[in-house]
Amino acid sequence: MKTGYHGACTAEHHHMHRITLENVSDKINKDFDLAKYEAMEFTPQIRWPDLTVQIMLHLVSIFGVYLIITNEVRFLTTLFAFATIYTSGFGITAGVHRLWSHRAYRAKTPLRILLALLFTITGQRDIYTWALDHRVHHKYSETVADPHDVRRGFWFAHVGWLVLTPHPAVEDRRVALKKVSLDLIDDPVVRIQKQLFIPLFALLNVIIPVWVPCYFWSETLVNSFVVSFVTRFTITLNIAFCVNSFAHLWGNKPYDRLIKPVENGMVSLAALGEGWHNYHHVFPWDYRTSELGRLNISTNFIDTFAKIGWAYDLKAATSAMIVNRAKRSGDGTLGETEEPDPTSSDYQHIDVN
Ligand SMILES: [Zn+2]
Ligand SMILES: [Zn+2]
Repeated sequence: MKTGYHGACTAEHHHMHRITLENVSDKINKDFDLAKYEAMEFTPQIRWPDLTVQIMLHLVSIFGVYLIITNEVRFLTTLFAFATIYTSGFGITAGVHRLWSHRAYRAKTPLRILLALLFTITGQRDIYTWALDHRVHHKYSETVADPHDVRRGFWFAHVGWLVLTPHPAVEDRRVALKKVSLDLIDDPVVRIQKQLFIPLFALLNVIIPVWVPCYFWSETLVNSFVVSFVTRFTITLNIAFCVNSFAHLWGNKPYDRLIKPVENGMVSLAALGEGWHNYHHVFPWDYRTSELGRLNISTNFIDTFAKIGWAYDLKAATSAMIVNRAKRSGDGTLGETEEPDPTSSDYQHIDVN
């Protein structure tokens, strides 16, 4: 059923798409000397305002978790916080990630507005900045130009990169990719969300989430602030951070054993399907970010909007492309599931030899 949407996405289409991207990449890589940057001495400085914000968020969240487990807050407040985490999450996964960063599908204006609103609830900077950094991450993955280069360790990839000054190579590539990311600024939804980011952040990430529990079920202002704003915000941040840390460190590599990103089911469960990261780094333009059959709620979200025509031009790798790539560079685990089902014909073990 799902394959019906892939009609617009032929191998030719991908071929053309990649040629275009390669031309762009030749152009922007012309005067970029990665070896020079890799060799340079660099000591990052702590960005105190950002570090202070992270420490405050996490300390208050510990108090929030205490309020939740001791039933100091109304159950509805906890439920509302988690419902907000999982609905707003689609703004990251289906929105800023698969739509804006990767252009893995196209979306009509109402869906783009919905995704921009959901993304703003998560409070993770503006669409433009997030998508640009994510493009730098994919293009220069595991180099000094990768904003959250996992070679610098778990903590750096998880949160350290947000509280330290960036490597000069990252700044260099942010400027370079800005020049070829005009598609982002051409989208009025991205432009408006960027221009109005501070008032939108205040309204959607702070004021409304704090107001709802107070107004509808008489939660106290302090409880609502701690649980429905700070703790919720911090949990969403950490789920997104896990894709950069856990999903680059622990798991198998069925598609490319030579890169760091891995398949991590736990991250996928928490991050609405974004933990199938070995697949995603190999086929970043695939709107599913994983093979069919993998738990991926964000793919179901996009499929639902494709049914009513709001999402279209969904790009996906064919099984032949996936199997060939796995044979060529995978670690031999393609088709292995955590609980192998010998009767399933969907999976077959690929003999890498
Ligand atoms: Zn990654
Ligand atoms: Zn990505």
